[in-house]
Amino acid sequence: MTGPAIGVDLGGSHLRVARCAPDGTVEGAPTKDAIAGRSFEDITAVLAHRVQALGDGPVGVACAAMLSPDGTVVKNAPNLGWRDLPVAARWRAALGRDVALLNDVDAICLGEATAGAGRGHDDVLCVMWGSGLGTGAVCGGRLLRGAQGVAMELGHVLVEPGGRTCGCGRQGCLEAYVGGHALEARVQDDLDAGRVPAPLRGAVGSRPWIVPLIEAAAEDRVGYAASLWDEVAARVGLAVAHAVTLLNPGVLLLGGGVLDHAPSLGRRLATVLDEVVHPPARCARRAPALGDRAGIIGAAVHARSAPGG
Ligand SMILES: [Zn+2]
Repeated sequence: MTGPAIGVDLGGSHLRVARCAPDGTVEGAPTKDAIAGRSFEDITAVLAHRVQALGDGPVGVACAAMLSPDGTVVKNAPNLGWRDLPVAARWRAALGRDVALLNDVDAICLGEATAGAGRGHDDVLCVMWGSGLGTGAVCGGRLLRGAQGVAMELGHVLVEPGGRTCGCGRQGCLEAYVGGHALEARVQDDLDAGRVPAPLRGAVGSRPWIVPLIEAAAEDRVGYAASLWDEVAARVGLAVAHAVTLLNPGVLLLGGGVLDHAPSLGRRLATVLDEVVHPPARCARRAPALGDRAGIIGAAVHARSAPGG
């Protein structure tokens, strides 16, 4: 399929929809509808209304969810409260056209590789460090999905057997130490245990979000914050460096809310990558370029390439 496709970004709070040309150009501004707390049937009605208004073409949906190996069933979408829901079949019936689902970070990677910071490269590794640590890879021009559709889950490599409990239910995953939610939990634990020093302790107590506070304290050379950033950068750097060494991407994209708000953490991460990546596999590093359009574009690309798309 070479015509336009409809890209959908299904977040926990908003549904965003746009029509995309094959080169990744978004036609017009994406629509945005609030969906927090709404039923599956309500969301289906909103989606159908938006999609029909945008004309023909297959639909690709990027969602923060664990999908079935064939990508048709949402096994678990914690932000939406969906479990074992055959979303592709239901929406295919409701919309009267093909619907393909894709993990959100895979969609961002595919979007950036097509029309963003990875454009021109057949091999792109994308790491989104936000509330969790999501990773996607395009290898030889194709999204790397794996036999079960769960390739490149770098956030779930085991780093501390028997350690902190991860959102996936296992103990000791990387994400349980470095994800934005995990950092909040770790600092709270340290606060409870009296390990957070005085100037930072007061600020942490009234914080909206921990990352900028830790970043500011690390820049002021507060030992606790600098040590935490060193440890977290070492953990992420080691994992990402191994992925770069193994996949040999042409470009490494590093983005997400944690890095956006912590430049000194990004510098620490860069230092670890410089040291650990196998020298012949060293590659350019860039920030993603498409912002919140990357997922929509990637979903549309996926819809076009999916069977029936
Ligand atoms: Zn995990």
